[in-house]
Amino acid sequence: MSPLPVPRAELVVDLAAVRHNVRLLTEHCGVAMMTVVKADGYGHGMVEVARAAREAGSPWLGVATIDEALALRAAGDTGRVLCWLTVPGDPYDRAVAADVDVTAYSLAELAEVEAAVRRTGTPARVQLKVDTGLSRGGATPADWPALVEAARVGEVAGHWRVTGLWSHLAASDEPDHPANDSQEQVFREALAVAEEAGLTPEVRHLANSAAAVLRPSARFDLVRCGIASYGLDPAPGRLPDLGLVPAMTARATLAMVKDVPAGAGVSYGHTWVADRATTLGLVPVGYGDGVPRSASNAASVAVGGRRRPVRGRVCMDQLVVDLDGDRPEPGSDVVLFGTGRDGGPTAQDWAEAAGTISYEVVTRIGGRMVRTHVDSRLDSRLDSRLDSRLDGELDDGARP
Ligand SMILES: *Cc1c(COP(=O)(O)O)cnc(C)c1O
Repeated sequence: MSPLPVPRAELVVDLAAVRHNVRLLTEHCGVAMMTVVKADGYGHGMVEVARAAREAGSPWLGVATIDEALALRAAGDTGRVLCWLTVPGDPYDRAVAADVDVTAYSLAELAEVEAAVRRTGTPARVQLKVDTGLSRGGATPADWPALVEAARVGEVAGHWRVTGLWSHLAASDEPDHPANDSQEQVFREALAVAEEAGLTPEVRHLANSAAAVLRPSARFDLVRCGIASYGLDPAPGRLPDLGLVPAMTARATLAMVKDVPAGAGVSYGHTWVADRATTLGLVPVGYGDGVPRSASNAASVAVGGRRRPVRGRVCMDQLVVDLDGDRPEPGSDVVLFGTGRDGGPTAQDWAEAAGTISYEVVTRIGGRMVRTHVDSRLDSRLDSRLDSRLDGELDDGARP
């Protein structure tokens, strides 16, 4: 068999890493898991990641929009799915008919759910969100009692079951930030108001990845883990080493290698000028593929087992790296970021180089890159391409 053609640029997503991370987080937190797969699974592929999360025992999936929830249903997912971001006129009918848990922030949203229930003849599952201090979505504490009251009335009338009460933290990645204590306190008060009104939710939840790991008191009945499920650190430098494994590797194929003399200006604007004779490598990805232009002159990639700094500006389709006199063959593997094993660059490294967070790096990368899902337990292609991750640690059978 001839070897598989190597794409110009590729995102390789290891679903075994996702399963590993979901299991690890579930064990660590000791409560139900909601794997958050919005925004195309943070760029990892929503449907594939959702399937891996279910295999790892995640009873819930979380998405932002109704469309995302419906896409999960269309792909055959039948488990619990919560969505939490709508605009007036969104397809609540379809969400209700598809057995999706919807979130209401306001009386107006409850009214839309009620209209959908009347049209479809199907009772809904509704969760209520309280704004405990993020000042984004959710009912303010002032509006909460009325929302709770209306939800209870609708529940008694048989329109829906109120399945959850929840909120979202503003600074969970800064465990000492006073907003954490304050929001948790406001959340507990909101729960008390709801319980007094007769609501008996299945799940009360507050924690995203950082809080799930760093703030046991915020775990309640369920944790909503996005970024950590993909193996990235939600609170860089603050998290204990849980053994999370980054699931995404962004790689490219080296296009060209050339010699340049001292004084050569590199890429648009000549923002880097060679201070010595060196060799340069042409990497055929750029901001048209979601590579952050703000990482110009700052990020590095791995070629031939060594870190190679990006020189000059990241262009639309390509970038240039300093090979420092080495001459790897065109066609060689270039890892932009991956697991970080063997000192290779990670999405976190790119985030720091680009002045952003790893969430944005993985969610935005893609563009024309091919996305391939592999399973390091099953797929030897990954072993040869990305060097084996088939350590016992990642073998599902090896985990209790
Ligand atoms: C995106 C999101 C999450 C997941 O956050 P991470 O920091 O990625 O774990 C959890 N809850 C809500 C409401 C979100 O919007």
